[in-house]
Amino acid sequence: MSQLLYEGKAKKMFTTDDPDVLRVEYKNDATAFNGKKKAVFPGKGKLNNAICTKIFHVLKENNLPTHFIEKISETEQLVKAVDIVPIEVVVRNIVAGSLAKRLGLDEGTDLGQTIVEFYYKSDELGDPMINDDHALATKIATEEELAEIRRQALSVNEVLQALFAEAGILLVDFKLEFGKLKSNGGIVLADEISPDTCRLWDKETHEKLDKDVFRRNIADLPETYEKLLSRLEAVK
Ligand code: 5GP
Repeated sequence: MSQLLYEGKAKKMFTTDDPDVLRVEYKNDATAFNGKKKAVFPGKGKLNNAICTKIFHVLKENNLPTHFIEKISETEQLVKAVDIVPIEVVVRNIVAGSLAKRLGLDEGTDLGQTIVEFYYKSDELGDPMINDDHALATKIATEEELAEIRRQALSVNEVLQALFAEAGILLVDFKLEFGKLKSNGGIVLADEISPDTCRLWDKETHEKLDKDVFRRNIADLPETYEKLLSRLEAVK
């Protein structure tokens, strides 16, 4: 028996017969600005499932632990059950988005060093930025967990920068979520990595290949995600 466990903006999670395994279904919904902008794009779920599956396979080949088990249909994956650590981890290589706004920097400026930011995962509060001290004092995570999350986030960045570089794409920034495995408490990468959660620019033209095309009304979302998928599929 499969029960709906949780429905988010872009995915639904279902139980399976195995308590350590969940089924994820990618939806066709796109949202931006904390749900204030919404649309449905037929085919989006299928594209994000394919892109995310490719990325999780590459992370696995590079010995990075994730919740991903396997893709089971065009829009579905099986994943390991975790308790999500309520921190959104943003990794930035190039200035864009909220960083450009907050510090008055030009979008596209190379940062020269990677920035890792933590945000407290709360739709109600609009995901406020926090530092390590906030996370420790409020017991959102322990010092060891924060160190492990930061280490894994930086490793994911290295592997994905290399993957996207092979496709002629710059990994500008992205958001990760981590979970503690229900089975043994180990920290693994969870949620998704897709053009919904990354900024990806063509290396030469800086054409946007991510959800900013929807956020900023720049281009058709499914056409953009299709372009990204075919460029990733061309990488061995
Ligand atoms: P920014 O802080 O500039 O808005 O976002 C930085 C990066 O993290 C972008 O790649 C963006 O897609 C991702 N990101 C940050 N917060 C969220 C979120 O709540 N949902 C999703 N899907 N991505 C996010």
